[in-house]
Amino acid sequence: MSKKPFSVSESDFAAWLVCHLRYLYRSIGTKKSQPSLGKVVGDGTHEAAAVEDATVREAIIEKHVERLPEEQRAEAKQLMVSQLEVADKHDEVEEPVVNQEKEKLERWRVPGTDREFVIKSDKIGWAKDDLGRQNLQIVDMKSGLNPAWLAWKSKMEVSIARMILVRLEKNRDAVADRVSNLEAELAKLEGSARAAVEKKLTYQREVLVKEKAKTEEQLIVVKKLAGKVKRHIRKFERVRTQLFFFAMVAEQTRDYHEASQLVAQFLGKLSQEERGAVETLKAEYRKHFGNPDREPDSNRFEFWYKPEFGAEALQRYLEQIPAMEEARTTRDAEATTGYHCFDCDYRDTCPAFQAWQGSRNGSNIVPLTVIKPVAGDKEKTA
Ligand code: SF4
Repeated sequence: MSKKPFSVSESDFAAWLVCHLRYLYRSIGTKKSQPSLGKVVGDGTHEAAAVEDATVREAIIEKHVERLPEEQRAEAKQLMVSQLEVADKHDEVEEPVVNQEKEKLERWRVPGTDREFVIKSDKIGWAKDDLGRQNLQIVDMKSGLNPAWLAWKSKMEVSIARMILVRLEKNRDAVADRVSNLEAELAKLEGSARAAVEKKLTYQREVLVKEKAKTEEQLIVVKKLAGKVKRHIRKFERVRTQLFFFAMVAEQTRDYHEASQLVAQFLGKLSQEERGAVETLKAEYRKHFGNPDREPDSNRFEFWYKPEFGAEALQRYLEQIPAMEEARTTRDAEATTGYHCFDCDYRDTCPAFQAWQGSRNGSNIVPLTVIKPVAGDKEKTA
């Protein structure tokens, strides 16, 4: 009898690369923490978008909504319904795709090995390009807005916030100079002239405290916005990697070794009010820095997969597997703590996370031997 293959999905690789312990928890089916509203909305929308029957959709929504505390359920339901409207609209305007399958689970056993790659694409089928050639098209749907669009918007906000910071720093330095000059002047004075300078100095010192505080606050604003840009870019890269992985496997399962079209569709809705705020932001940016970069589509991006890049990537994925296998066999994995922990499904029960939260002492590597799961914990079958 042939050995059961070692199955790995793109999400397994993503977890492994961020934190080996996260992958281990995932692979042995460790109980997850309470999911966030965003996660439940994303999962529910994904599953419901794959079916057309209204009753089935309603049941799917209800099933996901029940994963949340009572007070979040109405909001989650409303968000799912609104995102499904966007998903349906995409379906109506899409170019015809031949033999399109939704939520398609595919497995590909790497020849000559006991490794198996698993994918589940939202939509996969054959589309015609402008020259009439047929290409494999893979579509991945996501909640929210295109992270490339969000990064574009946040970059403008960072530029404006930095400009304000520079102004505030100039003001602060000018006041600091005044204080220094007054201090120097005071050292040379006596009597009533000294009292007048002392009064001015007291006032300027108070102004300096205020200017310093304003600058510090603005520095925090800049840092937060810069962090936002980084997070959006990471999310964008993650979606690209997922789609690329899907194409890498679909190329093999279909024995189709041509370029494939990869599409990310985002189901968030931009309200009139938000649209107006973006236009104001663009106008403000233009006033100081000239025209902003071209605005990306807030609901979509696409790119092409090339098989030669897929072959290279496949090697890199395969190289990770022995260590993943060992972690799973020994139930031992190294934890890497960091801000990514806040998005981790296992943070509530992860001892490394608790320790990191408790200490926050600089080192971000916490070696940890994982306690073997209790009997009844199920191995994950991807
Ligand atoms: S909470 Fe952090 S350290 Fe713990 S498993 Fe998740 S990512 Fe790893």
